[in-house]
Amino acid sequence: MSEDLIKCPKCGSTQISAQKKGFSGKKAVAGAILTGGIGILAGTLGSNKIKLYCLACGNSWLPSQYQEQAKKENERQALHDRNNERQAITDFIDWYEAGNAHECKKLYSRIKASDYDDISQQALDAFYRDMKSKRQKERKQSLGCLLFVIIITIVAIIVYNYNT
Ligand SMILES: [Zn+2]
Repeated sequence: MSEDLIKCPKCGSTQISAQKKGFSGKKAVAGAILTGGIGILAGTLGSNKIKLYCLACGNSWLPSQYQEQAKKENERQALHDRNNERQAITDFIDWYEAGNAHECKKLYSRIKASDYDDISQQALDAFYRDMKSKRQKERKQSLGCLLFVIIITIVAIIVYNYNT
């Protein structure tokens, strides 16, 4: 979080000025330009006593609004990373079953952040077994959920018809 630059939620510019609430936009332009991380504003961020101005497009907003936006952005990024890792594991399983150790090692080194040359065949085997059983468990779980929803729906229909 402290690494993030303050960005305009509208245009993405990092040329941002902070002013105490009540100052006009024009005055803000003359104010200090924030080029550091959001950590500079730590402590004042939650208070809403300051307002942020974009020097590029003139947009203004409260830090609390920014935080909300940053949180959403982080969640989106986390979801993206999760999906990427999921895809990498799927590819790994495919390559392993196709017998391509080179592609397996490449994916393994990406997922585990380890050196390509240090990866042993045993590590690939173990990872494949783990991921394969994890996927099978997931499939069983989602099938169970689906079955549950179907049963509830059928019960609901029966109850509804019985009552009318
Ligand atoms: Zn802007």
